[in-house]
Amino acid sequence: MTTLESSNKSRPATGDRPPFDVVRIRADFPALDQTVHGKPLAYLDNAASAQKPQAALDAEAECYRRFYSNVHRGVHYLSEKATDAYEEARRKVQRFVNAAREEEMVFVRGTTEGINLVASTYGKQHVGAGDEVLITTMEHHSNIVPWQLLCEEKGARLVVAPINERGEVIVEEYEKLLSERTRIVAVTHVSNALGTINPVAEMIGMAHARGVPVLIDGAQAVPHLEVDVQELGCDFYAFSSHKLFGPTGVGALYGRLDLFADMPPYQGGGEMIRSVTFEKTEFSPPPARFEAGTPDIAGAIGMGAAIDYLQALDMNAVAAHEHDLLDYATRALEAVPEVRIIGTAANKASVISFVIGDVHAHDVGTILDREGVAVRAGHHCAQPVMDRFGVPATTRASFALYNTREEVDRLVAGVERVKELFG
Ligand code: PMP
Repeated sequence: MTTLESSNKSRPATGDRPPFDVVRIRADFPALDQTVHGKPLAYLDNAASAQKPQAALDAEAECYRRFYSNVHRGVHYLSEKATDAYEEARRKVQRFVNAAREEEMVFVRGTTEGINLVASTYGKQHVGAGDEVLITTMEHHSNIVPWQLLCEEKGARLVVAPINERGEVIVEEYEKLLSERTRIVAVTHVSNALGTINPVAEMIGMAHARGVPVLIDGAQAVPHLEVDVQELGCDFYAFSSHKLFGPTGVGALYGRLDLFADMPPYQGGGEMIRSVTFEKTEFSPPPARFEAGTPDIAGAIGMGAAIDYLQALDMNAVAAHEHDLLDYATRALEAVPEVRIIGTAANKASVISFVIGDVHAHDVGTILDREGVAVRAGHHCAQPVMDRFGVPATTRASFALYNTREEVDRLVAGVERVKELFG
């Protein structure tokens, strides 16, 4: 496995960051300190959603406790404070992915809404009958279905770039599938089902060489990799707060300002307008144009605090720690007869999907739960990936910065227990 840094620029190490200390980090996440079925919780379901540091919980609660009000429309003190905090959160999200301008960041409900926003605005504007939208086999349903709906409506074609046995996009095939009818590419940065880190910079370069814009689904990337949208050169980048140790119900969509500026609104309502008459409505410029209605104010502030938390850490140390867990778990599970790991890409994030003989993943998940080990079992909203590997479902362990080798040992012991019970 190569290092995470190979696909991303490294954050400069600063002397004022404390050394990586998993015990100290765990103490920041109150949910980790509990027992489940009488066993200490080993939370290995981070790709589905991550636990929250106290700092993010406090920031959200503080908003409701001290300066809660609706944003943007008020002239009173609390509304101004809430607006300042909400807009500061936007700047945090902007800096987090190194967008050039804050107007390029739109708060959305999450990755799913970010992708739907692009499909139903940019997509409706630019995709017509006979055109093509290019995705890959390893997309999450939320980066398939919005494009499928668009293609059905427009009489366009959804084209799918294949993946190999290791679960990597076959880049030469992807390049061949970029045609003069391709109107947009939508690809995941990191696969939630396989852990594969895609060579997105290279894929973006290939699309741009043909004048095709690219949306990146960053849901699984932002908790693990440093993302720089300018360096990647992507046109849209969508991600969710809840996988990033922030609250649920909020996320962000990056879009290049020149694209955003030409796009029609996503939803109509308050805040996204400049003026309304019954004859004609003029829309606000981005980002307000895409934020109709009252946003998740406290959620955005909590997301900003989660980003602050993550940015105070040395991400290279976090990446090294997560990689150690992935390597350690991979070696241990590979050594268990009848375990088959699904997704063995050379460049992987800390997700490990596996099957044990023909034991159903739900049985595996239930037995592990009795041991206090939380994993996900199912198709992981990526049914085409399951089809590609000929399995109905997998068990998926996914690691975050607060996990430990001891928790991996408990996962492996649980797998041995499954084998005893079904052996
Ligand atoms: N894309 C990927 C790769 C994901 O893992 C997920 C969440 N499992 C999503 C998109 C959707 O994210 P959300 O449910 O937060 O909108």
